[in-house]
Order: sequence, then structure tokens, then C-alpha cells
Amino acid sequence: MKQCPQCRQNFADDIHFCLSDGTPLVWFDDAPEEITVIKQIPKIQFPVQTPVQPPIQPIPPKSFPFFTCLSALAAVLLIGIGGLLLGIFVLRGISNRNTNSELSNDFNKPFPKNDNSVNKIDDQIANLKKQKDQIEKEKQKLANERQKLEEDKNKVISTPTPLSTPTINYPPQPTVRIKFGRGRVAESVTGVVYKERSFVLEARNGQYLSASVNGGNCVRFSNGSTTIGFVTSSGDNRLNIVNACNSEANFTLTVSIR
Ligand SMILES: [Zn+2]
Repeated sequence: MKQCPQCRQNFADDIHFCLSDGTPLVWFDDAPEEITVIKQIPKIQFPVQTPVQPPIQPIPPKSFPFFTCLSALAAVLLIGIGGLLLGIFVLRGISNRNTNSELSNDFNKPFPKNDNSVNKIDDQIANLKKQKDQIEKEKQKLANERQKLEEDKNKVISTPTPLSTPTINYPPQPTVRIKFGRGRVAESVTGVVYKERSFVLEARNGQYLSASVNGGNCVRFSNGSTTIGFVTSSGDNRLNIVNACNSEANFTLTVSIR
């Protein structure tokens, strides 16, 4: 006879499967106790046959964490982008509030902050260029002034002679009194005149005084002539001679009165 290894029900020899649970039946000997050893042999085989269960579908175990990782990554990315967008909008809102600028205009502008920083750098470059130009101009100016000074210096050095002579400081010369000798009507005085010299002579009122000076091209009377004549007054009458040259000059003065 046959037996179901699952539920231990016995069946006729011509039945192949258990009528209760469909398990394939095995041969079963209804013999007495001695043959129990034989009975046990097929029992050992049962567990081998029982796992005739539908094969466990190989659910790909490694693919699961892979997809989880991907989706987590995507989620993180989405959250990040969302945060970024939110931040941009919040910043725009703050800047709009701060500047009071029109909303529509501001939204059309793409990232004004970047433009600003670029403009700032451009401005700085422009400023530096301006400063450089200015410095170049100053440099040129200084070079010109220096050249001028050099030229002036050369002029001063090249013309020392006319400047050096008039710097001589001659001392003032004392006034000379001219006296006529007894019975004489003319007297001559010789000497050196630095710049100018004065002469006095006593006369009566209404006499005529005539004088001449000889001192080359340098010495003249104060009226610019080498001769002079005038009617005297009572007491001292004065004569002045002038040296027109830059160096001292010898002279001879002749005075007559009648
Ligand atoms: Zn059964």
C-alpha cells in the first residue's frame, strides 16, 4: 500500500497522490515491528522530496539598495535645488524691499549681483587707468620743468660777466670843496669817481659858473652833459658828476667863475 508523507494517510497502491493535500505518495509496508528499520529508510528520503515547493523567485537583492541610493540621491538633489531656488527668491524679495525697485524690472534682470561685481571691477580698472594717466602727466610736467630749470641754469652760467660787475658795492665818496686860489678864476680837480661825486664852491650872488668834465665815455654832469653853466647864488653852489660805467673812472673837472 501507499502512504502520504505529509499527513500519514494510507492509500491504495494505484493512487499516486494524496487525496487530501496532493503530496506524492510513497510505498508503505504494513508489516510487523521487525521491519521498522526498512520503514525508516523512506522516511529519511521525505525531507528530500518535500522541498518540491515552487522555487523561491530570485528577487534581485542587490538591485534594491542601488535603486534606493539613486532615489535618495535624487531626493537630496531635488531638496537642494528647491532650497537654492527658495533662497534666490527670498534674497530677491529682500533686495527688492531694500531698493524699492520695481518688481517686474527686477525679475527680468538675470542675477544683478554678478553684473554689479563685474561692473565694480571694471570701474576699479578704469580708475587705476585714470590714475596712471595722471601720474604720467605729472611725470611729463616734472620733466618739462626740470628741462626748463636746466636751460635757465645754463643761461645763468653762460652769462656771468655782465652780472658780476654791478654787484660791486662802492662806498659813498665825500663831497669835495673847490677853492679858487688868490687871483685865479679857474681851478681843476682830478680824481676817481665810483658812482657819483659832489663838489661845492663858494660864490657871490649873480656870478657865472661854467664847468667841464673829462672822464672818457663814463663821466658826465648829472644833466647828462660834459659841460654845464649857471648863474651862482650867494654861498655854496653845488656840482654833481655821475659815472655811467660799471667800474670806477678817472676824471678831470675844470670850473671857472667870472
Ligand atoms: Zn496527505
